Amino acid sequence: MDKKGFLIVISGFSGVGKGTVVKQLVEKYGYSLSVSATTRAPREGEVDGKDYYFKTVEDFRNLIDYNGFIEWAQYVDNYYGTPRKFVEEEMKAGKDVILEIEVQGAMHVKEQYPDAALIFITAPSAEALKERLKGRGTEDEATINKRMKRATEEAEDIGVYDYIVVNDDLDTCVETVHGIIEGRKCLKQYNESFIETIKQDFKN
Ligand code: ADP
Ligand code: 5GP
Repeated sequence: MDKKGFLIVISGFSGVGKGTVVKQLVEKYGYSLSVSATTRAPREGEVDGKDYYFKTVEDFRNLIDYNGFIEWAQYVDNYYGTPRKFVEEEMKAGKDVILEIEVQGAMHVKEQYPDAALIFITAPSAEALKERLKGRGTEDEATINKRMKRATEEAEDIGVYDYIVVNDDLDTCVETVHGIIEGRKCLKQYNESFIETIKQDFKN
């Protein structure tokens, strides 16, 4: 297999369970996770540098000016962006990097990294999504309604993604996403130097 880090973009409606799925992928399979910068306030229990790099709007804008992000986007009332340095270094070191970002960001990533795998995680239904958002208990009703409205818009963009995975049973979802990534690595275009090596190996 050619030694090259893959970029994996995971998106999905707010509250669908992306964070939960990604955490398991990192813990179980050792994927490298990019920590985004955001201007949103930390939720209870969130740690700066681990969940997000929490920034002021001014600092965030400075990072944009210095080309510090691979992509950035506005989501509901805040800015979110993927720091460039970490992702580039990890991929160079042959590590598979997960970006957990929203759809505008996913599209920008695809433009710059056409080989990136774009995976959209969905809930079984809109009702199930609302229940999860309520159940998480981290947003007030008005924010939940804004996020549901945003989900309605995001549903229009699902076609941008290469893979759609329903997060109904959590373990099944985690295994499916891992399987997609492993399967993608087997595509012949990512194994050209391996094919040459094995051909040479047999000749010898
Ligand atoms: P996101 O990162 O997409 O906003 P979270 O990972 O925070 O979502 O999950 C939102 C809520 O849904 C959490 O309370 C989480 O425990 C719950 N959840 C995640 N996956 C499932 C699932 N497969 N079935 C039921 N609840 C889930
Ligand atoms: P939350 O506020 O729930 O943590 O995230 C809101 C949305 O922003 C989610 O859809 C999340 O995937 C997305 N997001 C998080 N980090 C980034 C990022 O760096 N870039 C973009 N474009 N979206 C992000």
